[in-house]
Amino acid sequence: LTYLDYNATAPMRPEAREAALASMETVGNASSAHRSGRDAAQRVDEARRQVADLLNCSPGEIIFTSGATEANNLALRAAHSVGGTVITSTVEHPAVLETAKNLTATTPDALRLLAVDADGLVDIDGLHAALSAGDVAIVSLMAGNNETGVLTDLAPLAEAAHAAGALFHTDATQMVGRLPFDLAEVDVDLLSLSAHKFGGPQGVGALFVRRGIALPYHPLIFGGGQERGWRAGTLNVAGITGAGAAAAAAHRGLAEEIARVARLRDLLESALVEQLGDCRINGSLDYRLPGVTSITFHGAPADAVLTAMPDVAASEGSACSSGAPSPSHVLLAMGRSREEADSTVRFSLGYASTRADVDQAIASTIRAVRQVRAALAIPI
Ligand code: PMP
Repeated sequence: LTYLDYNATAPMRPEAREAALASMETVGNASSAHRSGRDAAQRVDEARRQVADLLNCSPGEIIFTSGATEANNLALRAAHSVGGTVITSTVEHPAVLETAKNLTATTPDALRLLAVDADGLVDIDGLHAALSAGDVAIVSLMAGNNETGVLTDLAPLAEAAHAAGALFHTDATQMVGRLPFDLAEVDVDLLSLSAHKFGGPQGVGALFVRRGIALPYHPLIFGGGQERGWRAGTLNVAGITGAGAAAAAAHRGLAEEIARVARLRDLLESALVEQLGDCRINGSLDYRLPGVTSITFHGAPADAVLTAMPDVAASEGSACSSGAPSPSHVLLAMGRSREEADSTVRFSLGYASTRADVDQAIASTIRAVRQVRAALAIPI
């Protein structure tokens, strides 16, 4: 199988697997005072340092969670608990959108959704307008979009939020480990990540909470006070050490990976557009994650295309929540029609993608799209 679905999940890096297995082979609760407990705690400390190094923050600012979904819930709920409006965008992942909707279910006016333009970019004037109403608890805007790869220029948006007295959170799940993210440079208060997007295990993530910010203590899970009380429960030592090793590995090769992956993505994209015609690439070409392309193949529904190319793992541009496929809210927010959204495929590449993967994907996609277009063409 040619795997081009890194935005769904990346294959585990060998370094992460080895680190997780080594932790599984030892016994010890990171909260125990004896030697094996201290060994587990040291493994967690090391992983916390590795994740902090990737983001250029301090280890004490990292809270390990079960993933970005939990980190997003934790950030939004804590900020919202003091009262005030939640501002986010129409193209966020459901882990932010559904949390924001749930928090404001009885006070719908306390949720403001910022629109995006046809390129998927959030408009700073829209943020200024939303902030001008006052009493904003938190602004949450994603760093890189999971469907299109479109990047958000966070610094000016965070500055605007801070000027209005609001906290700024970013769901950086798709960006961390794929592009540099320097928390000394970008003044976000809260950041969510998920280890499996950069080659760590699934079910492990983190919330960065900047030291000194005014975030009320608001855990989702109560119990034994682990993670400074923010997230009770015995730590997932194996998962966390795997996440740390993946962070270190992603960090080491980042500069070369970005250029290599972008070249492969560009090759895939240009071959498909040139040879198939009648395609549209979704999202800003200037502000994009290196490994992602979202392509609308006009006249070829994505579910039929993907079924016709079972040797390639890619994604439909539609989110399948609660069992019923619905058109991508991201593409609709960018002004695409339902038909366009339904004819969109997302390819996402990453650290282990090769030229052979891309050649295979080009050949299979061209065959599949031609076949579907021919089958659906109205005979004259
Ligand atoms: N945010 C974004 C942007 C994502 O792409 C994902 C994963 N699809 C999540 C949050 C949720 O991550 P997880 O499922 O690992 O909690």
